[in-house]
Amino acid sequence: MIRKQEDSYRHKGLRVKLVQEIRAKGIQDEKVLSAIEKIPRHFFLDPAFDKIAYEDRAFPIGEEQTISQPYTVAYQTELLQVKSREKVLEIGTGSTYQACVLAELGAQVFTIERQKKLYDKIVSQFPFKSKYTNIKFFYGDGFAGLPAYTPFDKIIITAAAPFVPEKLLAQLKPGGIMVLPLDDESNQMMTRITKNLDGTVHQETFSAFSFVPMLQGKEK
Ligand code: SAH
Repeated sequence: MIRKQEDSYRHKGLRVKLVQEIRAKGIQDEKVLSAIEKIPRHFFLDPAFDKIAYEDRAFPIGEEQTISQPYTVAYQTELLQVKSREKVLEIGTGSTYQACVLAELGAQVFTIERQKKLYDKIVSQFPFKSKYTNIKFFYGDGFAGLPAYTPFDKIIITAAAPFVPEKLLAQLKPGGIMVLPLDDESNQMMTRITKNLDGTVHQETFSAFSFVPMLQGKEK
């Protein structure tokens, strides 16, 4: 996100290795793996991180925020079962990497960032403006979602949620899926909520992860 960098054969080779690594950790969805193989993750990081951009770990992106670990991005995306042309709401734009993975899968992405400084940086420095025209950026509160653009086929929260935000659940289509790391006192359990056609919900719990908390209350 800092400046346009070169995508060399070395970078491409490192991505092939990264994909092998996250496949070995259990990711099976070929479309998700191929999106990760295509997207130059080093473009989202300060050039100082160039050599280690393809290690399977999170990195700081400023404003005390992080770009998620590729395995975590793949894990959440796999659970979301994104199909081409679906409307997907993302809470927590951060580095924009996750939004690009969703866009690469053909989704119409609506992504919200709570921090104004980070949001301004995102819109001014987004490296794929002409490639991923299917991403719309919003500055706002993820707990409120985007009522003007409802309903969404899928919703993904990429910061730790203290509870399932009711307003987001209301903005999910019947048959839709929401994936979020849900705080369970000490752990954040990756959680998938499926909204049934009759409006009732089905909740499944997966592995534990570590995310930065969702900012609540007043804007920062
Ligand atoms: N999806 C990001 C990872 C984001 S880290 C990526 O691919 O890099 C979590 C992000 O959520 C941070 O940028 C943080 O500022 C943002 N955030 C925290 N609370 C939020 C809220 N209430 N609404 C929207 N965004 C929020």
